[in-house]
Amino acid sequence: MGYSHLFNSLRSLKVPTTRLHKCFGVTKRAAYSVLANTSEARVHVGINDLSVGSEYEGFQVKSIQEVQDLALTAVRLSHLKTGADYLHIAREDSNNVFCVGFRTTPKDSTGVSHILEHTVLCGSKQYPGRDPFFKMLNRSLSTFMNAMTGPDYTIYPFSSQNSKDFKNLLSVYLDAVFYPQLRELDFLQEGWRLENENPLSQETPLQFKGVVFNEMKGAFSDASYGLNQHVMRNLLPSHTYGNCSGGDPPKILDLTWQQLKDFHAKHYHPSNSRFYTYGNMPLKEHLQFINQNYLKSFEKIAPSEEVPNEKRWSQPRRINIEAREDPFATNPEKQTSAVVSYALSDINDLYETFVLQILGELLTGGPNSPFYHNLLEPNIGTGYSPVTGFDSHTKDTTFTIGLQGIHSKDVDKVLGIIRSTFEEVARTGFPAERIEAVLHSIELAVKHQTSNFGLSMAMNLTPLWNHGSDPVEALYINSKVEKFRQNLHENPDYLKNKVRQYFIDNTHQLVAVMQPDKEFETKLEQEEKSILEAKCQSLSEEDKTLIFAKNQELIAMQNNVNDTECLPTLQLSDISTQAERVQLDTVKLLGVPVQVAVQPTNGITYFHGVLNTSGLPEKLKIHLPLFCMAATKMGAGDMDYRQLDQQIEHKTGGLSFGLHLTEGPGSVQSYEQGIAFSSHCLDRNLPDMFQLWQSIFNRLRLVDENRLETLIRNLVGDLGNSLTHSGHHFAMTHAGSSLTPTAHLKELDEGVTYIRRVKAIAETNQFEPLLECMHEIAKHVLVKNNMRCALNMTADSQEEATKHLEAVQRTHYVLPVPVNFTSKVVPGAPYLSSDFAPLRVLAGIMSSKFLHPEIREKGGAYGGGAAASATGLFSFYSYRDPKSLETVDTFDRAVEWALKANYNEEAIKEAKLRVFQKIDAPTPPSGKGMRLFLSHISDEQFAAQRQQLIDVTKDDLVRVCQDYLRQPAVHGVTIIGPPNDITTRDPSWNVEFS
Ligand SMILES: [Zn+2]
Repeated sequence: MGYSHLFNSLRSLKVPTTRLHKCFGVTKRAAYSVLANTSEARVHVGINDLSVGSEYEGFQVKSIQEVQDLALTAVRLSHLKTGADYLHIAREDSNNVFCVGFRTTPKDSTGVSHILEHTVLCGSKQYPGRDPFFKMLNRSLSTFMNAMTGPDYTIYPFSSQNSKDFKNLLSVYLDAVFYPQLRELDFLQEGWRLENENPLSQETPLQFKGVVFNEMKGAFSDASYGLNQHVMRNLLPSHTYGNCSGGDPPKILDLTWQQLKDFHAKHYHPSNSRFYTYGNMPLKEHLQFINQNYLKSFEKIAPSEEVPNEKRWSQPRRINIEAREDPFATNPEKQTSAVVSYALSDINDLYETFVLQILGELLTGGPNSPFYHNLLEPNIGTGYSPVTGFDSHTKDTTFTIGLQGIHSKDVDKVLGIIRSTFEEVARTGFPAERIEAVLHSIELAVKHQTSNFGLSMAMNLTPLWNHGSDPVEALYINSKVEKFRQNLHENPDYLKNKVRQYFIDNTHQLVAVMQPDKEFETKLEQEEKSILEAKCQSLSEEDKTLIFAKNQELIAMQNNVNDTECLPTLQLSDISTQAERVQLDTVKLLGVPVQVAVQPTNGITYFHGVLNTSGLPEKLKIHLPLFCMAATKMGAGDMDYRQLDQQIEHKTGGLSFGLHLTEGPGSVQSYEQGIAFSSHCLDRNLPDMFQLWQSIFNRLRLVDENRLETLIRNLVGDLGNSLTHSGHHFAMTHAGSSLTPTAHLKELDEGVTYIRRVKAIAETNQFEPLLECMHEIAKHVLVKNNMRCALNMTADSQEEATKHLEAVQRTHYVLPVPVNFTSKVVPGAPYLSSDFAPLRVLAGIMSSKFLHPEIREKGGAYGGGAAASATGLFSFYSYRDPKSLETVDTFDRAVEWALKANYNEEAIKEAKLRVFQKIDAPTPPSGKGMRLFLSHISDEQFAAQRQQLIDVTKDDLVRVCQDYLRQPAVHGVTIIGPPNDITTRDPSWNVEFS
């Protein structure tokens, strides 16, 4: 129906090459290494006059290596006085990165490394005011700021495109890790403490509080997190991995303030540190700052101990794990998980790690892999256990395979299939085209430019660098591919032998069976209660008074509007007043509008399209999300789903189909609803990629009921996991769902309502009716008249929905987890409204000055804040929150607080910087022009929005707070969390059990 012609024309679309130069002229961030194609170009950004062996600022240069595959030059240095290790990656990229990491190897499960990671950010020698880290979030244009605790390392990374900002953050980060204050009050706030239920009354009973304590209670409420922890601790039990580095909640209560300080002194020392910098800023300036202000004043100590390899077992082992019941199990009988985990190679053998990564993908990735075929397709469970796959974080790498959502009587069957599948693969090996497809995806991944390249590199290199490997060695990917091809060529049994060695003959394997326990929650509560009783019994009246007094001190500290004067900051004048303009062309091909952006995409073509679905009958619209999920996974043309998947993997970076919903920038009542589809490929595969799309559009195969069942069952499993993982998104989506037509659609298409609908379909065990609906959808939607497209490439290659409006909607989704996700949503303003900019700034100021201190610091939740979005909604939320209704009151108090406007100009400036951090985040070449294509916001409108943000005044903030938040005509409140007496008794609450 005309598609062949369209895709043929798209494939031959050529853009005049003269465009390229113009394009660089306007692109501030032409950064994205055009150099990757010009192999002779050596990347010298910021390292011009360095040579091996020479010394700079107390550092000696150990090596300078060019990695052409990634268009970068890597410089290794060592700090002479302390032995600190340093890796600099020079690359033509303006999104510069810094990261400092330490090997941290706790010997218990008190969460000491995790609590230390939190507390060092609470205040330091040069920045003694409370919480400089969170304060800096509002004084910077960083594109990323965070800290992470791994099983045996702790890292502190940030990234920024602004050199003044980079220096500010460098100073705050280094002062935090080397000279933190680690005050007792910081430990009590972030770790754990006893506090009276009503903190202002000593008569009320004591209870446990603390940010990490609650964070970890929340983490363990996620069954897949618990499974992962148990598997690692039991597979590698004899050293640090035998403990929970994040902290096991009852064990956290054993940690003392002194132990925290000792752990810092031992581990956060330059002699145990690894520094990483990335980007186009000059290396010498980094070295000078780090040496002069920090490293110079330290003496060398012994670095923290190395983690040994686990001694290999002669016998497999088996463990049983209890878990919380899964409220989303489609069949309550089927809630068991069974997995087998294997200890494999030493992480320092980089080539072996590379081979095992490929092997892991071959074994489990996509419908052509043996485990997908043998384990998933018989529909015994609801999909792979989320711990499935190859993992190279620990000293011994590991591989885990298993199923979730199975019947307890099927455990042995699953274990049998796992064994026999390995035996089958050791006999037959893998088809050559599968191996080619996996190697192709590696080639594509190396060339694909992302805006956080430097940051992901830091995260990927940390685990192996932490164990003493040369991180630069890991960057030579093409040479590893060549060696791999060579090995395969010389020995056709190469991979079969690996399977035999690592899986069949490997006795270091752990079987883990996880089963639900009705009493799970009660047992945990009991345990906490008995620890509380024991602690309380040992307290004298005097102790209790001391505890009360200490908490008063903490409250006073939290209430103190502390001075941030000593912290460095950016000014609004540091924000570029020019918004980037992207040069776009629009052409019409056979009536289809095509937007073209010429960009330095490194030999990859990016294709985007939108199909309008407004003409689709209502009864079919409800199934659009499932249609999108299944469209590229069912087969097309002459290919069944396996053959289609093989082609997609071999020729493209994947074909994606998803729902597209955008509000008109001028009004929240108007919107575009449709399907967004996209893909990318190496330029040489362009004809094949369009051939694939052509098959999908013309000849989608929607016939295989069994296949659809597998997809739906896996989806239910995934959705259940994501609800316990990011409940605040579901709470916000639901709380806003009655306020605008698009918010209503979002709830239907991706909210809790959607999860319940998919679960209901799975429970019927009838998939034929759904297949028929999908047929109808394909007929209506996959039509050329509904389509518009966009290509990013290099030069050489409404009323209906408003009827659901209700004045107030309060819903409590009861989930058996120990923490809450809460949200309140009110109508805001659309993108083009002059009120949108002040609402964004208001959300920023409320988050940092009121909601964060109240909900996280005082309330003990993991997070909380407010957001104004272009969807025309203003949302409040909290995340992993021990409180529920109190937090909803806090949202209301935030409005009263904002109306009083008791904050200064500095606070307004910080809130503006916070907004600019988000909107000026770097865009990779593949994303240029997507704001216009997907959201209909032009560069002019974007520039106007930036100016409006800069111009926002205090009066504007008070005005929009009064107009939108004070007494909204409608609002929605949603809590996702444990049962609660008040909502159960109060009839204005709609209480839903899953
Ligand atoms: Zn944490």
